[in-house]
Amino acid sequence: MTSPAKNPLTDRFGRTITYLRISVTDRCDFRCVYCMAENMSFLPKREVLSLEEIDTIARAFVARGVTKLRLTGGEPLVRRDIMTLIRRLGALRNDGGLDELTLTTNGSQLTRFASDLFEAGVRRVNVSLDTTDEARFAEITRWGRLPQVLDGIAAAREAGLKVKINMVALKGGASEGGNEDEIVPMLEWAHKHGMDLTLIETMPMGEVDIDRPDQYLPLSEVRNRLSTRFTLTDDPHSTGGPARYVHVAETGGRLGFITPLTHNFCESCNRVRLTCTGDLYLCLGQEDRLNLRDVLRNDGPEALDDALDRAMLIKPRGHDFLIDRDHAGPAVPRHMSVTGG
Ligand code: SAM
Ligand code: SF4
Repeated sequence: MTSPAKNPLTDRFGRTITYLRISVTDRCDFRCVYCMAENMSFLPKREVLSLEEIDTIARAFVARGVTKLRLTGGEPLVRRDIMTLIRRLGALRNDGGLDELTLTTNGSQLTRFASDLFEAGVRRVNVSLDTTDEARFAEITRWGRLPQVLDGIAAAREAGLKVKINMVALKGGASEGGNEDEIVPMLEWAHKHGMDLTLIETMPMGEVDIDRPDQYLPLSEVRNRLSTRFTLTDDPHSTGGPARYVHVAETGGRLGFITPLTHNFCESCNRVRLTCTGDLYLCLGQEDRLNLRDVLRNDGPEALDDALDRAMLIKPRGHDFLIDRDHAGPAVPRHMSVTGG
């Protein structure tokens, strides 16, 4: 572990920021129904941070005590030359102040990148997978193909990467466009292959083509149901993120729950999020932000440090996600692919 920074980033509520998530692109080769509309318009290139700019901003954070970086998107591995950035950031692990560099990916490009990622210093990846049923996978991701992702997961494991599976829990079975009946098979499949599974509640972010209340499945319900079939014991494991874990005796694996709606975890929040246009969002579920691209382009890299201090003053206490019939629209207008998961 790296020693604490001399001048850490601490917000008004005494929370220290040690974790930065960076959305390196808003583009993606899938169109998951809960994440994007089928016809999305993407950002013009000039608005998007160059890989060098992302590197400069990430380093400013690491100098202020951020020890964990996660690259996300959109799909991070579809960004051109992404390995250049990953190699540079990976080098910060060798006493440059960084403990961990990781990625959230849909897995589609992992056969191509797995070994390079490991060589660059990545040790863990989160792969998003909502079902192991081929037809259902195609329905949920619209453009994705399951075998490609399963091959990607196998390649990642062969390359030495630890893989955690993230599954967004969607109400209903196949005929309703959900994956509720896939939770147990996914749990058994992931644990059989030695991978943790984390379930995520859908968050009301951005307009999508489907109806969110129809889709929202509270994980408190899922946990209750699972505990009639499996022996679940609380597990103190933490990856520095918002998931709470249980150990499943029957499968011998770990199951995580990310429950922004049924259980708010904001009091222990240690993270902020940078979009590919340089907006630093201080909370996933609020609009408070400060644009670091403008700071960098107008005032130079030395101005970043002050900007980070200013950002700490506007980090909100927490989010107000709510999904029910009176709150069917998005809590925030941006899609998840803007700030990443
Ligand atoms: N494309 C990559 C992937 O799918 O892993 C990285 C970006 S994706 C936006 C990050 C995570 O956010 C994925 O696990 C995805 O399932 C999740 N996600 C997307 N939209 C969501 C929503 N509205 N509510 C909850 N999770 C969402
Ligand atoms: Fe793409 Fe990930 Fe969003 Fe799916 S969840 S559309 S893979 S960014």
